[in-house]
Amino acid sequence: MLDRKRWQGRVFIGGTWEQPSGGTIEVREPATGELLARAGAASAADVRRAGEHAAEAQPDWARTPGAARAAVMRTAGLLLERQSGEIARWIMRETGSVRRKAQFEIEASFSEFMEAAALATQSQGELLAPTEAGQTNLARRLPIGVVGAITPWNSPLILAMRVLGPALALGNAVVLKPDPQTPVSGGVIVARLLEEAGLPAGVLQVLPGGADVGEAIVTDERIEMVSFTGSTEAGRRVGALAGARLKKVSLELGGNNAIIVLDDADLEAASSAASFGAFFHQGQICMTAGRHLVAEGIAERYGELLAARAGRLAVGDPNTADVAIGPMINDAQVERVDRIVHETVAAGATVLAGATHDGLFYRPTVLDAVTESMPAFAEEIFGPVAPISVFASDDDAIRLANRTAYGLVASVQTTSLSRGLAVAERLRTGIVHVNDQTIADVANAPFGGMGHSGNGGRFGSPSNREEFTQWQWLTFREQQKTYTF
Ligand code: NAD
Repeated sequence: MLDRKRWQGRVFIGGTWEQPSGGTIEVREPATGELLARAGAASAADVRRAGEHAAEAQPDWARTPGAARAAVMRTAGLLLERQSGEIARWIMRETGSVRRKAQFEIEASFSEFMEAAALATQSQGELLAPTEAGQTNLARRLPIGVVGAITPWNSPLILAMRVLGPALALGNAVVLKPDPQTPVSGGVIVARLLEEAGLPAGVLQVLPGGADVGEAIVTDERIEMVSFTGSTEAGRRVGALAGARLKKVSLELGGNNAIIVLDDADLEAASSAASFGAFFHQGQICMTAGRHLVAEGIAERYGELLAARAGRLAVGDPNTADVAIGPMINDAQVERVDRIVHETVAAGATVLAGATHDGLFYRPTVLDAVTESMPAFAEEIFGPVAPISVFASDDDAIRLANRTAYGLVASVQTTSLSRGLAVAERLRTGIVHVNDQTIADVANAPFGGMGHSGNGGRFGSPSNREEFTQWQWLTFREQQKTYTF
């Protein structure tokens, strides 16, 4: 299905795989450095053409009956399921994912297609009470038009799908820019699935490229909304550019998420959840448990258990060995993580596990006695590092958890549900899990953050219609109304 000859060195514009003007991108496997493919590299000129094709195709797509749009989404979902082996292999090799992470992306993307199919045939608005006799009064939702989607490398398939699914199902056209490190899992795969499923030409374009291509999307006058997933720093720039153009912009940004372990918690369960939350996909997930806040009486035991779990996790190439931890995405990320770890240790923290690496393979790391002023507490690490900080009371735990500008996810671990809910009530995050770890993204729940983790947008079926359509108030009457004016 992926049919390499079709897309190698090309970008997807107007329903065809074209030679771009930006040349090609070498797609390398992080674990081995092996060249996996050459993808097309888009330029600003390609963005202009993509915007034109999208703007031309969108009105017909919006007029296509919802049932027909739903059929395209369902077919693409079934094709994804049928090709899941080949797609999983791409995700594993291109992003350094372990098999379970690749499967999570595929299952979640399948759900996105199915939720999108349902969305396409749901109610498009409300019949309002008439304000005068003879008038019909409607509030209906219309597509926004052309949506620009800019996505990162860490979970490229699902992060593209959670924009594309609802945006397309609701009658928008999309210009997608995957990260240049993951153009296949983040772009080529979804384009091929939707192409095979019968999506009309021009409704989706895929343009791999860097920040310059992203900025060309944000500033293109035909692109009416931007959905950006990535770092808070880049999100600020995207928000400013979009704001100056009075363009709707949805920002899903970084996190510095706390897992709070109350003094009554079952520590085996808490350390198992925390190990997954901290180390899954090498900690390179916006929802990663990046701060472990533990009641002081149990912190020592928690540290021992978590360090023992970290020490047991096999590290290596997920494509050739059954490992729990694969490579990090690139040298710059490893250097960043290592810098944070070493600065934190220099400031007085102790190493309970890890803190070493072999090339891109960073050992799962547990740091103890981390305080608020240390970098591992204050910064989003985006690596396999679990910094432990102690608290004296539930109030203190809440204060520490909220002591960050981010506000994506939090977890509370306790054997008392009412106590867990009382703590959860006071956390300033878009997502809270009581007695589960921090990493979860499903198609039917609202996903997004508070504070510097975003600008208020949410993905997921309760919010998708709000996100990817706009209201129109429509009134009509049989007879033309006259005025004494
Ligand atoms: P990044 O911001 O560097 O890049 C993300 C995407 O934006 C890439 O496609 C990149 O090419 C593009 N980009 C970069 N600068 C741009 C600019 N000025 N204009 C337009 N596009 C630009 O982020 P990253 O390092 O690839 O990803 C990691 C970050 O993403 C972390 O902070 C993580 O927490 C965050 N993230 C958030 C979520 C979420 O749902 N909240 C999900 C995944 C990742």
